[in-house]
Amino acid sequence: MNKITIAIDGHSSCGKSTMAKNLAKELGYIYIDTGAMYRSVTYYAMQNGMIDSTTGHIDTKRLQAAMSDIHISFKFNPETGRPDTYLNGQRVEDKIRTMDVSSHVSPIATLGFVREAMVAQQREMGKSKGVILDGRDIGTVVFPDAELKIFVTASAEIRAQRRYDELTAKGEQCNYDEILKNVQERDYIDSHREISPLTRAEDAIVLDNSNMTIPEQQAWLLKLTKEVASASE
Ligand code: C5P
Repeated sequence: MNKITIAIDGHSSCGKSTMAKNLAKELGYIYIDTGAMYRSVTYYAMQNGMIDSTTGHIDTKRLQAAMSDIHISFKFNPETGRPDTYLNGQRVEDKIRTMDVSSHVSPIATLGFVREAMVAQQREMGKSKGVILDGRDIGTVVFPDAELKIFVTASAEIRAQRRYDELTAKGEQCNYDEILKNVQERDYIDSHREISPLTRAEDAIVLDNSNMTIPEQQAWLLKLTKEVASASE
């Protein structure tokens, strides 16, 4: 089967990364979690006192100057069968998934110099075929020529519940209403920002997975990938 580029975009917490990780494992593809990259920049900015935790104000001057010191990479974890995120050589996989990072990431992702740096890294990491990326602008900006583009969505309430279950399972104290508010805020900022707003690529296939189980989504995606890959041979 021909190897292709797969772009999965969509709203926050709608299961894009689970779909992408599982498909990558099944097909031996490289998986690039672009949200983890924006989260890593946010974590770096928080750790280095560039975000005021009360007002959310970002010291963009300092962050811009520090961009060349921010190195993000992924390393396959044989225990989980999935890639872990590393920031300047330090494993940050769990640290970037907290509510604290979630509440600051979307404003960071509106910054042009941040997007420019991330998109350049994503294009470099994904330049060979056999790659699956998930994010907000993959099919529209990062890889507009991807052979397969999916746009995933689900109701905000269902997405918030999934996120709540995920964080609770990890032992993190969380509150459903706060998560719902965060999901809605991120949707709003991601869809209304000036640079590369979240929008469905014209040629993307829409998947509303509100009422689908994870195995159902996997089967749907695998079938579609095989069809598209065979057609591109
Ligand atoms: O996918 P995830 O929810 O981890 O992404 C975190 C945030 O990173 C999103 O809410 C969005 O603001 C930003 N993001 C982005 N472009 C991408 C991926 C993520 O702006 N390609």
